[in-house]
Amino acid sequence: MTDGAGDVGKVRGWVRAARRIVVLSGAGMSAESGVPTFRDAQTGLWAKFRPEDLATEDAFRADPKMVWDWYAMRRAMVAKVEPNAGHRAIAAFQQRHPGRLTVATQNVDGLHQHAGSPGVLALHGNIAEDTWLEAPRACCTDANLLPGTPPRCAVCGNLRRPAVVWFGETLPPEVLQAAQDAALASQLMLVVGTSGVVYPAAGLARATPGRVVVINPQASDLDAVADAVLRGGAAVLLPQLLEEHP
Ligand SMILES: [Zn+2]
Repeated sequence: MTDGAGDVGKVRGWVRAARRIVVLSGAGMSAESGVPTFRDAQTGLWAKFRPEDLATEDAFRADPKMVWDWYAMRRAMVAKVEPNAGHRAIAAFQQRHPGRLTVATQNVDGLHQHAGSPGVLALHGNIAEDTWLEAPRACCTDANLLPGTPPRCAVCGNLRRPAVVWFGETLPPEVLQAAQDAALASQLMLVVGTSGVVYPAAGLARATPGRVVVINPQASDLDAVADAVLRGGAAVLLPQLLEEHP
């Protein structure tokens, strides 16, 4: 369901006219691919834990194995899902128009990258990747990596951790800066599948001098600042907006 073919046609016109476009995507876009939300993933052994109590540096330091195992479960869930028609429509647009569309995402599942989008700004990191818990020392290299749950540096004991932004952590500054630069340079921002309350979606949408289009099945906090609101899913609407019809 959308607000009507008229609005889709209007936004299609904005897409054609925009020299630079930003797509800002959130959890709703991944949910359409079948990625369980943080809360829905808490089944079985994990039902008694709250994600807020696992996805923190304190939790990892207190029990690295438990948090590593939890991420292993979530990684296995994410590995089973595929990009949807919305992810693919974005990637196809980028192939046709190199440099014209930037994806900034709050999702950690890598689905945009998997669909073929180049240069994705992963604001909250990527669950498939690891990084060092402490700033890496000279000894912290692949050659010294000891397998385990979690893997560690055989020399100094530094642990590997998921390369995601945990509760209480700040976003990677260079990624956030790149997203802000893209927002400032854009004539059109498509805000897809996010309620808008989660930082930094609202800030980026308000920073852009261009038009803002909200694409979401439910009402969002950003509706009030949007130039158009399309009520529907990304998998249906993005192909309509981004694909070229003869
Ligand atoms: Zn080391």
